[in-house]
Amino acid sequence: MYKSRRSQQWEWMLGVCVTSAVWGESQRESATHGRIKAAIDAVPEIDTHDHLWPFDRLPGLVETQRGKGMNLAGIWRSSYFAGVHRLTPWIPGSPFSAWWDKAKHDFDNARATSVYRYQLPAFADLYSVDFDHLTDQQARDLDDRIFAHYRNKSWTYHVITERANIELMFNDPYWGRLDFKTDYPFGVLVFNVTTLVAGFHPSEFKQASDDPYHFARNQGLKVESLDDYLVVLDRLFQQARAAGAVCLKTTLAYQRTLRFENVPRESASRAFGRPRSGLTTSEIKNFEDFIMWRLVELSARYDLPFQIHTGHGRIQGSNPMTLVDLIEANPRTKFILFHGGFPWVGETGIILMRLPSQVWLDSVWMPTLSYATAKRAFHEWLDVMPSDRIMWGGDGNHAEGI
Ligand SMILES: [Zn+2]
Repeated sequence: MYKSRRSQQWEWMLGVCVTSAVWGESQRESATHGRIKAAIDAVPEIDTHDHLWPFDRLPGLVETQRGKGMNLAGIWRSSYFAGVHRLTPWIPGSPFSAWWDKAKHDFDNARATSVYRYQLPAFADLYSVDFDHLTDQQARDLDDRIFAHYRNKSWTYHVITERANIELMFNDPYWGRLDFKTDYPFGVLVFNVTTLVAGFHPSEFKQASDDPYHFARNQGLKVESLDDYLVVLDRLFQQARAAGAVCLKTTLAYQRTLRFENVPRESASRAFGRPRSGLTTSEIKNFEDFIMWRLVELSARYDLPFQIHTGHGRIQGSNPMTLVDLIEANPRTKFILFHGGFPWVGETGIILMRLPSQVWLDSVWMPTLSYATAKRAFHEWLDVMPSDRIMWGGDGNHAEGI
């Protein structure tokens, strides 16, 4: 039996409510289950995090014999499966069978993983196929239908707004962080501040859409001192708010520890204006830490809650516990701990319990990485906090993944 992603999610909830240890097919077929599921499916969703690129730049697009478009290889290539498992690469312009003859075996030892299973409900619900037992003919048909669907963006709209019943999607535009643009009518702008901590020197920024110095030039602002740079940050927040941004996002956990010390201004000031090659590792960290504290203050001043990637990333320093001093010292900022801190889900639970007015948990991406951990997390969290402290997002790159 194949179930939608939403029905899988709500089975966790139902599992919490129904104390019976036996939660089998019979209950899923029951009238009560059907009634609850129908009621839940009818609720429009606010999806707090995705990466839905502009339609003509979707990461899954490939060159096929029919031209550029999305196909089955593209769907898997831009999925989380490809980050954990080998996936036969798509050779531009090759026939589908050349890829599928090899790729179909890539899944053999991974059928239990969540990074494989998370897309199966999309294949079942949207294409009526059982990907676990796909024949070569079915695979070819599926590939044809995916390609046809992506000839225009109405498929994406249909899946997201009608099938998934997503009303609003917070979209993290990491491909153009400071462009302040949304590409979809259901999209909500997120201000991604990840790169701003590196503002000690213009050489840190490789593309204009990430570059606060480029922004400053366009705004007629000089950036000759740390104080000037802080004025630029403030102006960026004004622009983001004016463009409709509703929150901040940082993914620094991929690059460095989440321990941000409260560094004195003089220390950051000394690093300003010097290229990376002229700074020590600790001078760079001090500058980043100083700016992070300013971003946290600006978050409160502009009422833009701060989505922070925690857990799975650079795992040496991404345990959400490393953020507690920063959170505690900034009681006016709203902190949203992303990915539930996976795998440190008990830690995020106690952080919220201890700092209930400042912290929210976002379970985004967690069920994709580990369904088992997500299920455990929901049991633990609902045991220690009200349900309105927990959020959800898709973290996908294409409609099927979302
Ligand atoms: Zn994400």
